[in-house]
Amino acid sequence: MTFDTLGLSEPLLRAVSEKGYDTPSPIQAKAIPAVLDGHDLMASAQTGTGKTAGFTLPLLHLLADKPAANSNRTLALVVTPTRELAAQIHESVLDYGKHLNMRSTVVFGGVKINPQMMKLRRGVEILVATPGRLLDLHKQNAISFNDVEVLVLDEADRMLDMGFIHDIKRIISLMPKKRQNLLFSATFSDEIRHLARGLLNNPVEIDVAPQNTTATKVEQKIHPVDKGRKAALLSHLIRNEGWHQALVFSRTKHGANKLVKLLERDDIHAAAIHGNKSQAQRTKALAEFKKGKVQILVATDIAARGIDIDQLPQVVNFDLPNVPEDYVHRIGRTARAGSSGHAVSLVSADEIKQLSDIERLIKNKIPREEVEGFEPDHALPESRSGHRPARNAQPRRSSPSNRNGQGRNQRSAENKPAGNGGQRRRSSQQRASNGNGNGNSNARSANSNNQRSNNGGNSEPRPQKARSGNLIEPERVIQSGNR
Ligand code: AMP
Repeated sequence: MTFDTLGLSEPLLRAVSEKGYDTPSPIQAKAIPAVLDGHDLMASAQTGTGKTAGFTLPLLHLLADKPAANSNRTLALVVTPTRELAAQIHESVLDYGKHLNMRSTVVFGGVKINPQMMKLRRGVEILVATPGRLLDLHKQNAISFNDVEVLVLDEADRMLDMGFIHDIKRIISLMPKKRQNLLFSATFSDEIRHLARGLLNNPVEIDVAPQNTTATKVEQKIHPVDKGRKAALLSHLIRNEGWHQALVFSRTKHGANKLVKLLERDDIHAAAIHGNKSQAQRTKALAEFKKGKVQILVATDIAARGIDIDQLPQVVNFDLPNVPEDYVHRIGRTARAGSSGHAVSLVSADEIKQLSDIERLIKNKIPREEVEGFEPDHALPESRSGHRPARNAQPRRSSPSNRNGQGRNQRSAENKPAGNGGQRRRSSQQRASNGNGNGNSNARSANSNNQRSNNGGNSEPRPQKARSGNLIEPERVIQSGNR
């Protein structure tokens, strides 16, 4: 199939061809004709599927023939959870719409509101926004929703996770009843379905990938390692595997900052992006990472949500996420739009609950591979993905799966100075019992005690409950309260 068969106008086809796209992705093939026909849409699409063009192209087509928007009005509203994602969607609007005479802008928090108000004064045909700033602008009469003809809710699941449900409902209540609605979500929980029922009118349903399964072209691997040695293992892998560009996920903002410092100490150029960084810092870090000036970008889930980097070869989970769906989103950052990629998770024994939840969600066991010189003293138990683990379960002490009783005293051991444990090796028999002992023969002895102690006792905040009742990261609470 080619783009010409989808019913898009010539200026849009030209822009698509200039982007170098030959074939519509599955979601584009299904979504574009449906949107052009005026249908509502309920699309389940993972990151990297080309969904942005899936709604942007038909949106531009539909709006091109309409009279221009009046001042402080817009004809189409795209609401999305994060600043990065909003900026990227707007870039796509500009890219695909470059041969059309259409006005658009993007608004999000963390930057001055006045320039955004100025841009809205003349009116825009397409407005891309994060929910909080959009409502602030509405409150200040900088934007009216009375002329909105098309509403796009992108990454709806994430907006709900971030506690934006009340904002979304408020935005919807301020719009004319008659409009076209496009809902995109990576997952469809009961909450999303409830939202969809109140929003969508006889929608075309599109499901381009089996829900909650990981992108097939991502090669996934777990390196079991003690918590206090993760930073040293990461440095080792970056050097030994020759990773020139890797996106590393940290569960917390504090953890991300700390990891950047440790990597810089090892002469690895790294930067962090998370909710405590200013928008200017986040934009700069992302731009430098895209250009290859920054080798390692350490990000929290929220900050990374919108990152789109073509051909990103390597994703690393420095910690496993508390929300298992985030694992799918994280590794979706690699192997985007048909390319292949690698996702490596550094997993310590205390993360067995997260690992079990993830393996249950993706219905797969992720292969494990210990790295020579970094074999854990605290064995990573077999995951209990076939069973529902108890809430907040800690690794079981002396359980049959916790081989050799090594999980015992694990908590206190984590907080101890590294001592000479860094050089300790588990026997080959012990390693073999873990299923896969083929370590990296180039292990460097430089994964030293001082690197270990640098990261020792790294305690991370516990997840908190969000307004929506989901288990969420502290950053999400802060972000949704701090718009
Ligand atoms: P998205 O899922 O919308 O974030 O898109 C993921 C990536 O795929 C972006 O880098 C797009 O530029 C790229 N992309 C979108 N559509 C196509 C296509 N039909 N062919 C090749 N790449 C595409």
